[in-house]
This record gives sequence, C-alpha cells and structure tokens, in this order.
Amino acid sequence: MATGGLADTQALGAPDTRTRSIWLTQLVLAASVVIIGVLVVALRPSLFGVWNFVVGVLAIIVISVATLAAPWSRLPREAVLIVVFLDTLAIGLMASGTELRFGYLWVFPVMWVAMYFPATVLGAVLATIGVILLLDSTNAPDSNSALRIFIVLLSLGFIGITAHLAMRQMRALRRVLQRQAGRLAETLDRRSEQERRTNEILNGVDAGVARVSPGGSVLMVNDAYARLYGLDPRDASQPAKSVEYTGLRGMPVPLSERPLARAARGEIFTDARVWVFTGGGEWRVLSVSSKRLSGLGREDASMLLLAYDVTAITHAQRERERLSAIASHELKHPLTVMIGNADLALEDPDLSPRLRERLETILRASERVLEMTSSMLKSSRTAFEGRESYDDIDMRQIVVDSVDSFRPTASAHDVVIQLDVNEPLPATADGFRMRQVIDNLVSNAIKYTPRDGDVRIAGALDGDTVSLTVSDTGIGISAEDLPNIMTPYFRTSTAKDTASGTGLGLGITREIVAAHGGTLTIESDLGSGTTVTVKLPRFAPEKTDAGGKGS
Ligand code: ATP
Ligand code: MG
Repeated sequence: MATGGLADTQALGAPDTRTRSIWLTQLVLAASVVIIGVLVVALRPSLFGVWNFVVGVLAIIVISVATLAAPWSRLPREAVLIVVFLDTLAIGLMASGTELRFGYLWVFPVMWVAMYFPATVLGAVLATIGVILLLDSTNAPDSNSALRIFIVLLSLGFIGITAHLAMRQMRALRRVLQRQAGRLAETLDRRSEQERRTNEILNGVDAGVARVSPGGSVLMVNDAYARLYGLDPRDASQPAKSVEYTGLRGMPVPLSERPLARAARGEIFTDARVWVFTGGGEWRVLSVSSKRLSGLGREDASMLLLAYDVTAITHAQRERERLSAIASHELKHPLTVMIGNADLALEDPDLSPRLRERLETILRASERVLEMTSSMLKSSRTAFEGRESYDDIDMRQIVVDSVDSFRPTASAHDVVIQLDVNEPLPATADGFRMRQVIDNLVSNAIKYTPRDGDVRIAGALDGDTVSLTVSDTGIGISAEDLPNIMTPYFRTSTAKDTASGTGLGLGITREIVAAHGGTLTIESDLGSGTTVTVKLPRFAPEKTDAGGKGS
C-alpha cells in the first residue's frame, strides 16, 4: 500500500498506485462490513431494528462508493484522512448500543493512519474512538465501562504503534536498498565506461588483438583483427571469412595448426607466420603470437592472440633477397670470364715469375668472389622461389577440404557426396586457385542436382597427369547449350529455374586450369547428369600472364 504517496500525474483512465491502494484498503473494510451484515441477517436479524447499526453499515457502503469515485490523484495527500475519520465514526455507530461489539473494525482506520501518517494523526483517531466509547457508555452506563474503554484503546494503540514502527522500518530498509541499487548502477556505469575506453585503446592500435577462451571461442576482437580475418567486431563468435594459408598461394593451414586452435590448446608461441586472403581481396602476411591471460575473479584464464601485419616487411625482405640473387647471378658471368682468362694466361711458359704470382693472386681472389656469389644465390633461392613459382601441394587434400566445406549445403539439399580419391595427388600448382576450381565444380554439381541425387568426386594420378572428375545425377545440359556454358553470364533456362547464379564460375575455372597447362571437359545429358573432367600436369608450366608467377 502506498496511500501516503503524493499524487502522481496519471495516464488517462488507469488509476495510480496511491488511488489503487486507497481503494483496496477501503474495500477490505467494506467487504468485512457486508459479510457481517449477511451474518446478522442470518443469525440475528433483530439487530437490523437498531437504527445506529443500520446507519453505520449504510455509511460504510456510502463512504466506500464515494472513495471509488473520488479523484485521489488530484487531491492532497491528507484528503484521505476524511475517509479514515468517517470510517471511524461509522464503525462507532455500528458498535454503540449493540450488545455485539463491532469495535474491532476500528483496527482498519487505526492501521491505515499508523502506516501512512505521523503518530499525532494516530493519536487523533484513537481520541475520536475514545470519545465514541465514552458517549456510548453514558447511554448505558455500567461498572465496567471505564475498564472496557481503557482495554479497547490500549489494544488499538498497541496495534497502531506496532504497525507504525514496522512501516517505518520497512521504509528505512527500502531507502537502504534504493541507495545500494544506486551505488550498484554507478559502479556498473563506471565499469562500462572503463570497458569502452579499453576498447577505444585496443581499436586504436594497428596490431590485431583477440581474446580466446580455452574452448576455442573468440571472446573479443579489436577492429584490426576483425579487418584482417573478415570478422564482425560486434559478434566475434561468427566464423572468420579469411582463410589462413601456409604461404602466398600455398595450402590452407590445417585447422589444428591455425594460431587460434593452437592458442585454444593453451600453446604459447611467437611469430607464427600465416598468409591470409582478406575479404578485401588482398594477401597479407601475419606474424601471430599468443600470450596467457590470468583469469579474473570467477572468469577462467584465457589466451591473447596478437597478429601483426608484416606484409610490407616481408615484401621488402623478399625484394632485397631477390635483388641480391639477381646481382650474384649477374656477377657470375664476368667472374667466370676473369677466371678462365687468368687460367689461360697462366698456361704461358714465358711468364715472368713476378707476373705469374700476380695472375695467381687475381685467380684466387676471383675464385673467392665466385664462391661468395654462389652462396648468396643459394641463400636467396627460397625467397626467389616463393614469389616466382608454384607450391608443392596435395590436390587430394584440397579436394577433401573443399568437399568438407560443402557437406552442410549438400545435406540441406538431400544430395549425397561421394569422395573417391584413394591416393595423395601431389602437384606443383597454385593451391589457392586450385581450391577455387574444385569449389566451383562441386558447387555447380550440388546446385544443379535435385533432391536425393548423387555427386561423385574422383581423383587419380595417371603418370604425370592429375585427373579429377566431378559427376552428378542432376538436371544436365542439352547438346545445344553445351558449347555456350563457358561464355560469361550464360546460364541454361533449366539452370535459371533450378538455382541462382551469375554464370561466371565455369569460365573462371577453365581459365585457371588453362593457366596451369591443364584441360577442362564437360559431358552432359539433359535430365540425367553432368560430368566435368579436369586434367592437370603434375608440374604446372611457368606462368606467363602478368598477374601470375613467371620465373
Ligand atoms: P555462378 O557464377 O554463381 O557459379 P552459375 O553456376 O550459373 O553461376 P557457371 O558455374 O559458370 O555459372 O555455370 C554456367 C552454367 O552452366 C550454369 O548456369 C548451368 O546452366 C550450367 N551448369 C554448370 N554446371 C552444371 C551442372 N553440374 N549441371 C547442370 N548444369 C550445369
Ligand atoms: Mg557455378
């Protein structure tokens, strides 16, 4: 109950808390009086002949109706005292002159004022009750009336004081709780402010920072990390869009060897190098380190991943090595000429000993320089090769990875994927592009195969040729459309009805295969399925296109 509260501004129609509390208190009294009325009708109907009892009952009902009608939200807080005093008088009427004493009903007004008004108001109500009892006793005086008045007032006073004190304690408790809630809110505010500042600092640094739980989930990332790995900084738990590779256009790093997985296992490492192909279509070299973070309070210990973008340094280093490789390669030729000529000159028997000695010195010095240039060339060969030639890759691994990534899509389409590659398929090729080839073919096979169909991927090594076939039991392509399907943007009408697409995938696929010196052939029957065969030389010839890797 909150009848003591100030009038609130109210939304139209709905009564405020104070009004509802006033109604409730008054209606409980009214309900008690009505029940008494019913019992009196049943057990002592003669009481209805006593005028003041009837008037008292009616008064309570009238007061209750008026209470329901009064606009309490607009009236001052004290206005409710009118109801209290009128109730007191009405109960007085019911109680006096009847042999049954209904005085216990005074508990209602007494509790009401005790809980919501100062003790003086309680005193005034008790005094009113005292006067009523006194008047009643003058009507029918007897020897016990003084004692009766005393006992009734004492009991009511005791009940009132107890209610008053209990309410005071409750209010004090409420104030303490409110203060504590306020302090808690302040602390929370301060904490989120600190968190915001920490995030601001973290987002200000160039290095990618991520916090990883021991279970391997990413708890937090800064902007730089999100950018490098193609993550949503607001929901770092989503899988990263960028894939990590062992080298430029190399093989994808196996899942268990990725820095995130290693950190989740609790491994502490520094300068783990990975290449990522970012969502922005750029290759970046990252130097990733991990550190252990001790747990705070109930929080478990977690791991911190720091990823530095070392692309520029790596390129500069490779460039330097490349230059020194070129320089030593170019020096080899004149040095060989010098050594050859010195050797020839030394064969002349007429040489004076002094000249012979000089020529031998030149020969020894030239041989030393030649040795030095050879070792320089050897040490820079790796840099040269990483940049200039394909990687040694296993096509089977690429096919397995690709098929694994398509399994969820296939099962969503109720298409069964069968993988038939029984041996490793080593090749020297661009691992990144090869993954693109397999992805495009497998994606088409699943996309253009209706429910309950099959897709089979087979691979075999045939001498120096790696051959891969992707066959499906799907919609197929008519003989008429078959010559056109490599044309950019061309899509058969059945394909358009089956799935969405741009009509570019196959053309790009064929280009990549051709750049590796391979062939791509398609056989298809409308309505019964398609088989795409890719044949690649194990050692792809050197690239000649501008974006490629000629030696
Ligand atoms: P996206 O560029 O998104 O891959 P797409 O799948 O339509 O779109 P392509 O992969 O280039 O484009 O394929 C060109 C067309 O060749 C397809 O639209 C489809 O008509 C036909 N096609 C390719 N693969 C199959 C297949 N396995 N079964 C039936 N039709 C195919
Ligand atoms: Mg396609």
